Amino acid sequence: MKRPEIFGLIGFPLGHSFSKNFFTEEFHKKNINAQYLNFEIDDIGKIMEVVSEYPELRGLNVTTPYKRQVLPYIDILSPDAEAIGAVNVIKIKGDGSDMVFEGHNTDARGFAIDIASKLPASDSKPIKALVLGSGGASSAVIYGLESIGVKATVVSRTPQGKNAMSYSGLTPAIIADNHIVVNATPLGMAPHENEAPPFPYQWLSSNHLCYDLIYNPSPTKFMKLCSRHGATVSDGIGMLIAQARLSWLIWKSEEL
Ligand code: NAP
Repeated sequence: MKRPEIFGLIGFPLGHSFSKNFFTEEFHKKNINAQYLNFEIDDIGKIMEVVSEYPELRGLNVTTPYKRQVLPYIDILSPDAEAIGAVNVIKIKGDGSDMVFEGHNTDARGFAIDIASKLPASDSKPIKALVLGSGGASSAVIYGLESIGVKATVVSRTPQGKNAMSYSGLTPAIIADNHIVVNATPLGMAPHENEAPPFPYQWLSSNHLCYDLIYNPSPTKFMKLCSRHGATVSDGIGMLIAQARLSWLIWKSEEL
């Protein structure tokens, strides 16, 4: 039998990995001769050691803190990855000195696919969103929202630029005008499980869809506060699954 192709995840620390379980189960169910491994590397430079140790490695997912740090190792950048300025999927082509790293970003499309499935189908009004936090995940979410015609404003502790505002600048009118609120901060996941962004939750209503990028734990404190005021809530598991499937499409040019 042919040796299995290898795929994997680089990040630090990795802890419990959703991706390893997801791909291992899918490979088993669909009889795919492949393996998915976790590579917990404490320095991005070690990516080259991983690649030379596993010649069957054909693709990598990239997670915190390397989505931006991996850029110098990428030979070809997809338009999504270039616009967002971060890579979370690498397709490895060729071998030895002919090896090429193709960098992609599936966070934006994974988010867009999942949130689009949760928006009311009949809503033809232009929809606006508030995105809490201004890190890498926030940039991907904004790119994903724009791709489905939603205009986003960043809410930040230190707002910068035209489409950004502070938490203290939020008013009932602004909140009524923005039907989507996305938590793109790490508040709600370990070690911040009991924290939520300083957002005026009391002005939310049943017209709002509040989406937390965090999927573990779920529900997060943000989700609990939003649903207490009547909003529909979602965690980030659908985004994670969508982007794992998009990774496979990039690596193998087929649906998983
Ligand atoms: P990050 O860079 O660590 O933080 C994002 C932003 O959150 C920061 O730029 C900051 O924005 C705000 N923030 C940080 N600490 C805060 C605090 N104490 N109070 C208020 N705001 C704070 O994180 P990231 O890499 O962008 O990821 C954000 C979250 O998305 C993480 O929980 C990550 O696990 C999750 N994520 C999920 C998926 C998925 O598939 N579901 C994919 C990607 C990421 P300001 O300084 O502007 O306030």
